[in-house]
Amino acid sequence: QESLPVAAASPLSRRTRQARAVWGSNVVTIGGDAPVRIQSMTNTDTQEAVATAIQVKELALAGSELVRITVNTPEAAAQVPYIREQLDRMGIDVPLVGDFHYNGHRLLTEFPDCAQALSKYRINPGNVGKGEKRDRQFAQMIEAAMRWDKCVRIGVNWGSLDQELLAQMMDENSRRADPWDAKAVMYEALVTSAIESARQAESLGMDGSQIILSCKVSGVQDLVSVYRELARRCDYALHLGLTEAGMGTKGTVASSVAMGLLLQEGIGDTIRVSLTPQPGEPRTQEVVIAAEILQSLGLRSFVPSVTACPGCGRTTSTTFQELAKQIDDHLRSSMPVWRAKYPGVETMKLAVMGCIVNGPGESKHADIGISLPGTGEAPAAPVFIDGQKAMTLRGDNIARDFQRIVEEYIEK
Ligand code: SF4
Repeated sequence: QESLPVAAASPLSRRTRQARAVWGSNVVTIGGDAPVRIQSMTNTDTQEAVATAIQVKELALAGSELVRITVNTPEAAAQVPYIREQLDRMGIDVPLVGDFHYNGHRLLTEFPDCAQALSKYRINPGNVGKGEKRDRQFAQMIEAAMRWDKCVRIGVNWGSLDQELLAQMMDENSRRADPWDAKAVMYEALVTSAIESARQAESLGMDGSQIILSCKVSGVQDLVSVYRELARRCDYALHLGLTEAGMGTKGTVASSVAMGLLLQEGIGDTIRVSLTPQPGEPRTQEVVIAAEILQSLGLRSFVPSVTACPGCGRTTSTTFQELAKQIDDHLRSSMPVWRAKYPGVETMKLAVMGCIVNGPGESKHADIGISLPGTGEAPAAPVFIDGQKAMTLRGDNIARDFQRIVEEYIEK
């Protein structure tokens, strides 16, 4: 019996309209044929302009292509142009996104310099106002976006869902012959709130391609259900993220699983990993994780990948773990310079393996790989370059020698 060839799985693509967040000559496209964008958010008080500008810079240098800052008070709005100016002075042209709740209509109207300094506005339809005020205040924000030529994210969050809409939908549901369960009504309310608000913005004259939607929830299965429905019902670019994902491993795993499932289906044009930082953990960690999600799915490449085995009783020491870490750290820290100097370096693959069981095989699949000596093996570490054994390292300086070989390979 002949077996069928097995093809590698690859993420589907879903073509959406394309939004543009612009600052100076930096045009960050979102959706359409653009790569999935990484974004993040500061946790500084926006009134503290210098501290905020420094954190924006750190996030941008870590790879965040858009950075959101909260604009919650007149004092914060007054500082936004100054934050922008500081960034421009530091040569950081990352577009800033203003996060508005409750008073965005006033801040965007009363602080035109703030409205101009931002490149995108986040509008939460659940926090724009109630009753007839809602429509007027929503319109004021959309008019500001049109006046200053900014894109918007209409970002629904189930922690702040439009309560009037939810109550109306619950009421309609109770009159159905076969009512949906409460969760289904909630999903429907989230999706409806986002899409109806987008249509309302378009009816005010906003170009639909400048609208990005999000419906954030905190459960993995909820997020998958809501985004599948959102993607089915519209072609706006989508911002993907699990809200309040949590701390440490739990938040990282939940975000990776949820976004991985959806990105594989072609759903998601920009992502944010929302982690609660652990004490001492840098804010930039969420950017690193977002990049890892995209790179592990094969959607983008940011840094050469290092394949390392987990180690086991066959490894004589932790040398290979240390070596894998050293190489990984070195590659990451060198990327800002290398990216410009060595185009394509980010697609390189390295392997650092603990013994001969899988070492030579895995090393041959990499551009450059090393198999360290395991228990009972001769104290020699074969190095493979482009699939061929190139040399054998021996002695006490294997780690240092291998790093040098990697550097030379990249330079060549
Ligand atoms: Fe263990 Fe060797 Fe496999 Fe690494 S490659 S996990 S050291 S058997």
